[in-house]
Amino acid sequence: MKRIVLFGYRGTGKTAIGTVLARRLEVAFVDTDALIEKKSGRTIPEIFQDEGEERFRILEREVIAGLPVSDCIVSTGGGVVMDQSNMEQLRATSVCVLLTADLATIGRRLARAPRPPLTSLPPKEEIAAVITRRQCNYAAAADFCVDTSRTSTEQAADQILCFLEKGTISVVDRKSAFRWFAASPLPAHEQEQLKSLLVGPPCDPLTRFLGVAGWPCGHSKSPLLFNRLFERYRLNCHYTRFWDTSIRTIMERAREIDAKGLSITIPFKQEVMAFLDEIDAAGQQIGAVNTVVFACGTTYGSNTDWLGIRKPLENHSGSRAVLLGAGGVAAAAAYALLDLDMDVTILNRTPEKACALAERFGCHWRAWDAFDGINPDFVVNATPLGMQPDTSSPLRDDQLKKEMTVFDLVYTPPVTPLIAAARKAGCTTITGTEVFIHQAREQFRLFFGIDVPETVIREILA
Ligand code: NAP
Repeated sequence: MKRIVLFGYRGTGKTAIGTVLARRLEVAFVDTDALIEKKSGRTIPEIFQDEGEERFRILEREVIAGLPVSDCIVSTGGGVVMDQSNMEQLRATSVCVLLTADLATIGRRLARAPRPPLTSLPPKEEIAAVITRRQCNYAAAADFCVDTSRTSTEQAADQILCFLEKGTISVVDRKSAFRWFAASPLPAHEQEQLKSLLVGPPCDPLTRFLGVAGWPCGHSKSPLLFNRLFERYRLNCHYTRFWDTSIRTIMERAREIDAKGLSITIPFKQEVMAFLDEIDAAGQQIGAVNTVVFACGTTYGSNTDWLGIRKPLENHSGSRAVLLGAGGVAAAAAYALLDLDMDVTILNRTPEKACALAERFGCHWRAWDAFDGINPDFVVNATPLGMQPDTSSPLRDDQLKKEMTVFDLVYTPPVTPLIAAARKAGCTTITGTEVFIHQAREQFRLFFGIDVPETVIREILA
């Protein structure tokens, strides 16, 4: 038996359902709130009142680090999902069940058993505000969801037991999905892996699937990276390639195998937006999504590309920057550079596109050949110039000055002609691999709520 961890907002039934599950499975029931009270010798309202939420979270982390790793049911506090180290501990070798309930039901249950307030808002507004704030984290915590609004405790336990036995993918859907993967350009060894995981025998009904969605996507390093991370963090997941010309088909297949998440690559970053229920603020403003999380019947879209571009630039805020290109990744770059208060000028081969992008983000634009008059201290290449097999550079060697920092978003080859020339000229350089590392780290956080140290990703990709 695996450890079963129950997540959810207060009042969704974690303690009551956990107690029933433990009785029916004849295993121990562990309530982290009860352990915190025992450890501190005080009630949770007393801890909140005397020392505040911060002290409570420290105690919670200590208790979670000491939990048994198998053969038990764990009921967690509602805010536990906000702490990435707790998520790393709780997700390892566990089946994670998210309990939900509608706001009115939660309100009624909490009125019967009041808990310490989390905000200064009136109770009803607090419930809505805190759940909204935690929504992405709850989505990351969910392998399986149960809405407890209209089910008894025993019925909710039945649903969880059924899930533990059979998972959520029917045998028919497993076979149909495998036929589709087998007909795609997926490499033979990846097809073999999927065959054993989807159709067996035997196959573990609790294995969750994720993948990169694109056409083509054979070049993607995401399967290597994510599958190694699943081993490291002991997650029962498999990452593959959804390799098809139609994002509609990909989304249908992903739902068929109850996928946990997708990384979206060319050419679907814009098109996928039509298939999502919710899109984060950055994704909406950039007009592109590269991360999809499926949870409890809702499909969430986010953009982590801009965070991948922003991270290596944190020490460059306020620079005068030139952005070369006005396509998809240039929009994410413009969003990141402006977020760092840079003075941005977009140059593009087709000036109308530079103008349109600059108007959207409120920055400057010029014609492609205006570079020399700008004298930037920062240059970002967001064109495919220099991407294998192309060997050209977007700038002439004499345009590179040693005071410049040059960031090439192209990452195949790892050292592009622009980066090589910039190094020769004495510039500081940042390669496109940095974007992949940081955006993947953010993606993993959105999928599982776990923060992977940057060094771990570098080691895997080395
Ligand atoms: P895109 O939407 O097709 O946009 C391409 C941009 O490059 C357009 O502005 C286009 O100008 C310009 N361009 C194309 N060929 C050109 C040429 N010969 N001379 C001058 N300008 C040219 O592509 P994208 O999705 O933004 O991707 C751009 C590059 O970023 C790709 O090489 C990709 O590999 C890289 N990228 C890297 C990462 C990473 O993780 N490091 C992530 C995403 C993308 P027009 O408007 O005139 O067509």
